[in-house]
Amino acid sequence: MSRFWSPVVATLSPYVPGEQPKLDDVLKLNTNESPYGPSPRALAAIAAAATERMRLYPDPHATRLREAIATRYGVRSDEVFVGNGSDEVLAHTFQGLLNHDGALLFPDITYSFYPVYCGLYGIDHEPIPLDDAMQVCIADYLRPCGAIILPNPNAPTGMGLPRDAIAMLATEHPDQVVVIDEAYVDFGGESAIPLVARHDNLLVIQTLSKSRALAGLRVGFAIGQRPLIEALERVKDSFNSYPLDRLAIVGAAAAIEDEAWFQDTRLRIMASRDALSQALSALGFAVLPSQANFVFARHPAHRGGDLAAALRTKGVLVRHFRKPRIEDFLRITIGTPDQCARLIATLREIV
Ligand SMILES: *Cc1c(COP(=O)(O)O)cnc(C)c1O
Repeated sequence: MSRFWSPVVATLSPYVPGEQPKLDDVLKLNTNESPYGPSPRALAAIAAAATERMRLYPDPHATRLREAIATRYGVRSDEVFVGNGSDEVLAHTFQGLLNHDGALLFPDITYSFYPVYCGLYGIDHEPIPLDDAMQVCIADYLRPCGAIILPNPNAPTGMGLPRDAIAMLATEHPDQVVVIDEAYVDFGGESAIPLVARHDNLLVIQTLSKSRALAGLRVGFAIGQRPLIEALERVKDSFNSYPLDRLAIVGAAAAIEDEAWFQDTRLRIMASRDALSQALSALGFAVLPSQANFVFARHPAHRGGDLAAALRTKGVLVRHFRKPRIEDFLRITIGTPDQCARLIATLREIV
């Protein structure tokens, strides 16, 4: 607290990102990064762009990247908005599309950045409890509200909803914006992008941080009809005209265009996830059915905080949330088969 702060600063409860350790020999399974590198074509495009031309500002509209995304997802490039990580796209969405008279609805257990943005932008919100199976129950969202945001698959549970459920939600709330945060959809979920043409209230947000292995480049995007995208453009151009630098624009576009690398790495991660889920079950863990690049699991005989701490002393980082209902769960990012084996061997020593 300082007398120099604008009043809102003292009221903020900022998001706390997962630890980024300095040591090289830790097994880092705590922030849902990809264990495989980005597309070699993306790295080559970034290297080729690191020239004297870096003295020039980038294209403020990131046209090269928006066109690549539009082609990949079968939409028009003016239906694509790009930002500095999907976190920035989300921030502009909260400010530009989710601040209305009624409360914003989202699950009680979900991406913990949502309540942070509500605090930053003064958005009234109402958490909707997950059901007893830790699933989002769509019927609970059929109530008067200002807007809705859901991750699909949800985080940190990894559990997804079918596209039909999203279509129903958008249909039942024709005058409210429905945002679907698809950070993990490429690992087995059903994308709502094909619904955008039929629903003018639907905005779908994705990131290149997880399934494209580019968390370090900071690129995310939204797809929606023009009025929604125009709102994001207006907020962006009132905040930062150049959120994506020259390297991010060409690297992200090349990654989107490298379909073979994308398919190969995501399928390997899904296969490792299914093997890891089985190995965890064999150790006595209850593992939620995941459609993401992580699993959410708890052991009936151990507190989540104790397990996370014990793993940490043995050089393995996983994510633990000190929150009601999930404090005994660990969120474990899917690694390579070797990394999963090291995790299981370490857990076997502990449990
Ligand atoms: C990781 C994640 C994001 C943010 O990703 P960026 O790295 O900012 O693109 C957004 N939503 C959810 C649910 C996530 O898990």
